[in-house]
Amino acid sequence: MDGKEITDILSNVKDSYFNKDLITLGYIKGMSIGENELRFTLKLPAPLMPNHEELAQKCREALKDVEDLETIEIKHDWEVQRLPSLDAQNTPQALKTVKNIIAIASGKGGVGKSTVTVCIAEAFANAGARVGILDIDIYGPSVPNMVGLGSHQLGGAQDGVLEPVEAHGMKVMSMGFLATKDTPVVWRGPIASQLVQQFLGAVDWGELDYLFVDMPPGTGDIQLTLSQTVPLTGAVIVTTPQEVAHTIAEKGLRMFQQVKIPILGIVENMSGFTPPGSDEVFHIFGEGGGKSAAEEFELPMLGQIPINQNLREAMDNGTVFINDNINSIASLIAVEAMAVVTNEELSPFAPREINLANDGQTLVIKWQDSVEHVISAFNIRFMCPCAHCVDEITGEKLVKEHQIPPDIKITESVPVGRYGVRFNFTDPSPGAGAGIYTFSFLRKLGEDAKENASFDV
Ligand code: ADP
Repeated sequence: MDGKEITDILSNVKDSYFNKDLITLGYIKGMSIGENELRFTLKLPAPLMPNHEELAQKCREALKDVEDLETIEIKHDWEVQRLPSLDAQNTPQALKTVKNIIAIASGKGGVGKSTVTVCIAEAFANAGARVGILDIDIYGPSVPNMVGLGSHQLGGAQDGVLEPVEAHGMKVMSMGFLATKDTPVVWRGPIASQLVQQFLGAVDWGELDYLFVDMPPGTGDIQLTLSQTVPLTGAVIVTTPQEVAHTIAEKGLRMFQQVKIPILGIVENMSGFTPPGSDEVFHIFGEGGGKSAAEEFELPMLGQIPINQNLREAMDNGTVFINDNINSIASLIAVEAMAVVTNEELSPFAPREINLANDGQTLVIKWQDSVEHVISAFNIRFMCPCAHCVDEITGEKLVKEHQIPPDIKITESVPVGRYGVRFNFTDPSPGAGAGIYTFSFLRKLGEDAKENASFDV
């Protein structure tokens, strides 16, 4: 075996998001070939990308017939790519060391925009990314409280430079640092825009992978100021599940579209409430608003965050709140952002229909090219690619067949972004329901199921 043989093989392995091979995408780094062993690093362009394990498995599968190759070691790594337009001459100097600026916006206040900003930022920081939050929500700068900096006040600028404050492993700057309890600050119109402009140019962020900007709700001057002063990787729109929500979200969407800011997707917050000890979901704020907005505007649905008392308390107490769901939303933001940065089209390879049959024991997928696959719920569960079920480094399967109930059913398939789906199962064990099945992974499962079925005949 030699380097060329291995490279040739890996140049047939495709990334399911960008539909390009791993060599072309530059994901394979530090390859070393020993007598019977091969080592390399699979280096992705963002942390938290949900297909890391899937890609490692595909590499192993592709390399399995190489003669004399006994050991394959694949290390996982990532390095965030930088939005090239940040090099533009008129980008404020202070932002030149930031790789991506992502705005979090909403059509109206109180939908949980700041909550989503903080949770997503924390998920990235927790994954090892260098993260900053800039809170320019002039109507209610709530980020300081949410990260435990409620009483912090700005000491003043040194030579016109503002130092962000460290909290939860992130760098934070907020309009709220300018206000005190006795002197709440109400900025309006041009003054607010000027302040935002100053903020954008004056904060010494240092090196950051992601700067999340908590925007004021609505579509005023501030949004325009931001989009004209700095190149944004994109905007995430937060909405609630009410049917009218998409009318409100629409205002924000159109504004970003007009100023040519890519919209990375929609997060639906306050999506139902499940009382402790129950599995019944109460749709307190209605149902389906985020999904219908995503469909109407053809945008990715990045995820739903249910009403959660622990989340509310964490935000009130300034403590960290991360769970699998928040990580999953962050991971989709990472994919969407990287599609913008690397200027790669996301793969359009999506099923036409995903249906449950046999009371949820069977999944039937109809693909765009009319191919139909039938996969058992058991197999879908067993092949779950999440970190609970597969060791991220060795690729070893952690979930064992005997741990899965033979009569396991899928209760629901939940779309994830534009490239995958998640499943809820009747099996409540850890990991069940956490895995994101990219469409190309599902296609492969379907093809394998077909092959195995034809052996049985
Ligand atoms: P916005 O920034 O849109 O004005 P906030 O993020 O400040 O909204 O959220 C408003 C309130 O709702 C806060 O008290 C926050 O803790 C709470 N909240 C937001 N999302 C949730 C949720 N999913 N579950 C429970 N409480 C939430």
